Amino acid sequence: MTAEPVHHFAACRCGFVRLDAAGAPLATGACHCRGCQRMTGGPYSLGAIYPSAAVSVEAGETGPIGADPAAGHQGCIRCASWVFTRPPGLGDIVVVRSSLFEDAAAFAPFVESFLSEKLPFVARVAPHGFDRFPEPKEFPHLIAAYADWEHAAR
Ligand SMILES: [Zn+2]
Ligand SMILES: [Zn+2]
Repeated sequence: MTAEPVHHFAACRCGFVRLDAAGAPLATGACHCRGCQRMTGGPYSLGAIYPSAAVSVEAGETGPIGADPAAGHQGCIRCASWVFTRPPGLGDIVVVRSSLFEDAAAFAPFVESFLSEKLPFVARVAPHGFDRFPEPKEFPHLIAAYADWEHAAR
């Protein structure tokens, strides 16, 4: 018998959208690209990568946000908080904006992307960093390393 997974709950700014993520993410990240800077209004976005089956929208409704609907960004239809992304071409995963979790402190970023666009006054925040996105061939290694890192932090 496997133990019941820990559930993490997230909500948008207005509370209309509520989301449940079961278990630990595959990995966590911070993206410093200019698009994320503009969509968050902050220095970078924070994300937790989950298998799609682990994440459910429990209440409220999301709709496409961002400049390109094909990018898979979904936001609260009332307050426009960026809630999650289903990035095309990366398989059956969903990237939850981990700032929205009630326990956001548990989602320290493990991988930073787009360091090439990082604002110069912003410090590095993760143990692994890439100029752009990591290549898909790096994912299995990063996911395994994240599991070890996440365990060690507890
Ligand atoms: Zn909202
Ligand atoms: Zn980005």
